[in-house]
Amino acid sequence: MAVSDHVDLETFMAGVAKRNPGQTEFIQAVHEVAQDIFEFMEDKVHYHEAQILRRMAEPDRVISFRVCWEDDNHNIRVQRGWRVQNNNAIGPYKGGIRFHPSVTESVLKFLAFEQTFKNSLTGLPMGGGKGGANFNPKGKSDAEVMRFCQSFMSELYRHIGPNTDVPAGDIGVGGREIGYMFGQYKRLTNRWEGVLTGKGQEYGGSEMRPEATGYGAVYFLQNMLKHQGMDVEGHTAVISGSGNVATHAAEKITQLGGKVLTLSDSGGFIHDPDGISQEKIDWVKHLKTVKRGRISEYVDEFSGATFHEGRPWGVAADLALPCATQNELNEGEAKSLVGNGVKGVSEGANMPTTLEGVKVFHDAKIMYGPGKAANAGGVAVSGLEMSQNSERISWNSERLGDMLTDLMEGIHGKCTEYGQQEGGYVDYVKGANIAGFKKVADAMMAFGVV
Ligand code: NDP
Repeated sequence: MAVSDHVDLETFMAGVAKRNPGQTEFIQAVHEVAQDIFEFMEDKVHYHEAQILRRMAEPDRVISFRVCWEDDNHNIRVQRGWRVQNNNAIGPYKGGIRFHPSVTESVLKFLAFEQTFKNSLTGLPMGGGKGGANFNPKGKSDAEVMRFCQSFMSELYRHIGPNTDVPAGDIGVGGREIGYMFGQYKRLTNRWEGVLTGKGQEYGGSEMRPEATGYGAVYFLQNMLKHQGMDVEGHTAVISGSGNVATHAAEKITQLGGKVLTLSDSGGFIHDPDGISQEKIDWVKHLKTVKRGRISEYVDEFSGATFHEGRPWGVAADLALPCATQNELNEGEAKSLVGNGVKGVSEGANMPTTLEGVKVFHDAKIMYGPGKAANAGGVAVSGLEMSQNSERISWNSERLGDMLTDLMEGIHGKCTEYGQQEGGYVDYVKGANIAGFKKVADAMMAFGVV
């Protein structure tokens, strides 16, 4: 047996912290997974001998590059771009691109690590990656965003490809940015190929991709509720965010007969006790994607609603869907939700709940769907966009909607397989971590030491 076998969790995490100084988000994400995997690997010597978890917690590569662009006032601006190619054991690297001032190497490494497990859970052949830049698209003109995207892709294009690495959108990267980046890729390579997903429908995008993450998070919630003999209908929901994921989650909750009470952005949240109807959701979508305004403007449009600074977790509701960003729901806020009688939490965002907040949900035996399972609908439909591009065909929204529903049911099933506890409670974090890990680990074992 190798000398390094069977180090304990604490020693393993001390090594991760030492090798990744200051990368708090990445260390947090590895810790969350390692807790469950160590227990699972306890009697599986072959994984220990192959140092599988240690290898998974070391990205295949991290590419970092300068992105220069000229603003409308002819100032030269310099940003930093990254692509983290975490693991391609089961398929080409796949994961979004984020443009936000809070982007760091640590944030992207955590997202790429999580993505590896999430993509594995979908059952589709996709590895894990993530990229982005510390660029803030807010307040920039279309021309500035275009120049930035073109400059970003001028470096990124040499590292990606339909069989190598297929990025998608994420925070700050929607249809407009994907269009500019795809155009630049095509110009540089003289190839039309499915190298990005989340494309416009006119040029190879898939039906249902914009809706997939938010709808999928609600389908996951629906499956959790069904498992305990409940349904979305007649229940109230608090949702954070007002972007792609949040607005589509709100739409699906409303369609299923639930009532959405809140939406938010980085300025604060709106509380609408009458419920945020489809008409109001459409208004928010227009506000955010066309007018590029702030959620506070909602209260000027719809009477009865109020705007508050901070986050929405103090509003009493049956269901909670964090759909904005990482670490946006802490221990105190989790306690507040539990105190107000929340029944289920489904994460549209990636790692929105802190480790301490997750413990509160587990201790209270609340149905809690972690992002790597609950928001996997987005990347799953991205995988289907890749398939359609390869086949040079388009499937209709009805077919894709059915596939998304089935995929989310399948992911829920995998989580219960490994997460079912005595007394009927399902530990979805454990279930998702083990199911996601196993497939990637077994593929890596087949390759030997590479
Ligand atoms: P968008 O850019 O469309 O929306 C992001 C929303 O979150 C905005 O309302 C934004 O507010 C808010 N937000 C961003 N940063 C912060 C912050 N630091 N504090 C408070 N609010 C913030 O992004 P998406 O909807 O695409 O992504 C949301 C989350 O879902 C992310 O965690 C992402 O990784 C995850 N996700 C997205 C997928 C997708 O398909 N798009 C797939 C899987 C996961 P503001 O306008 O003020 O910035």
